[in-house]
Amino acid sequence: MDSEVSNTDIICRVCRSEGLVERPLFHPCICTGSIKWIHQECLMQWMRYSRKEYCELCGHRFSFTPIYSPDMPRRLPLKDLAAGLLSSIATAVKYWFHYTLVAIAWLGIVPLTACRIYRALFAGTIDAILTLPFDMLATENLASDIFQGCFVVTCTLLAFAGLVWLREQILHGGPAPRGRSCGERWSGC
Ligand SMILES: [Zn+2]
Ligand SMILES: [Zn+2]
Repeated sequence: MDSEVSNTDIICRVCRSEGLVERPLFHPCICTGSIKWIHQECLMQWMRYSRKEYCELCGHRFSFTPIYSPDMPRRLPLKDLAAGLLSSIATAVKYWFHYTLVAIAWLGIVPLTACRIYRALFAGTIDAILTLPFDMLATENLASDIFQGCFVVTCTLLAFAGLVWLREQILHGGPAPRGRSCGERWSGC
């Protein structure tokens, strides 16, 4: 991007103020006239807001050049390289740990708990309910219990979703007409 700080009638197309030495105006696209100039912060803000990386008027894609400090070494010091590598590894391990934990919880602990509680409740004996905490920690039939638990959890979720759907149907008296639901959405905004 080229910068220019001179003419007084050159103003930013976003905030309408002039360019200053510490806040120069740029012309990042091929637009001309009064909309040619823009502050870097105004452009960044507009890009964040519009989620576009090109000028809406001329279609030119904005490009940025990284500017390094003059005392920047020509080669990256080994210490910084190692620190960067370590932090990348730490982030990867953290994510891996997080997803493994989530997978163990949803594919292991939740179905297993559901299956054993379900069995204890429907066994119909006080004994089964009293020994539930010990049954929870038992390791026999682990795989088949987890498999059955997945089925129990799926049925429970489906039943719950069905109840919510039924409640909606009862409260609103069937699906809303197209126009009404549209109007509701607009007034909600
Ligand atoms: Zn501006
Ligand atoms: Zn433009």
